Amino acid sequence: MPLYDYACACGARFELMVPSWSSPAPDCPSCGGATTRRPPSPAVHGRGRATPPPAMSKAPQSWEGLNNGDRDTITHWRRTVEARQEFEANNPEHKEHRDAVAAHEGVFERKPLTYKELASRAATSKNATAAAAEASKDRVKPTAPKD
Ligand SMILES: [Zn+2]
Repeated sequence: MPLYDYACACGARFELMVPSWSSPAPDCPSCGGATTRRPPSPAVHGRGRATPPPAMSKAPQSWEGLNNGDRDTITHWRRTVEARQEFEANNPEHKEHRDAVAAHEGVFERKPLTYKELASRAATSKNATAAAAEASKDRVKPTAPKD
C-alpha cells in the first residue's frame, strides 16, 4: 500500500496509507474539506543539486589519514578538494579561509603539504603519489651549507 502525502486548502498536511494510487483523496481530518495528493517528496532535492562536497577541513590531516599515501586515497581526496574548490568558487558563502593540510608530519613538519600544493603538483605529474613524493623530496632537499 502506497503512502501518500495529502494537503488541504486549510493548510493541513498529512500522510496516509491508501490501497492504491487511484484511491480517492481522503477528506481533510481537520476541516473535512477536499484534499489533494502531493507529489512524492523527492529524496534528493532537485537535479544537479547534489550534496556539496565535504569541507576541506574534513579531509584527512595526516599522512596516516591518507593511508600512508595510498594512491587511491590521495586521488579521492584531491578530487574531493578540487570539487570543493569549485563549489566554493560558485558559492563563496561556503568558502573556508584556510588551506587543508594533507600531511604535516615527518618531512612535512616544517612546511605542511597542503591539498592545494598536492593538487597543483598532481596537475603536472598526473599522479598523486608522484606528486606527494616530489613534494616530500622538495622538503628534504639539503639546504646550502652556510660557512
Ligand atoms: Zn482542511
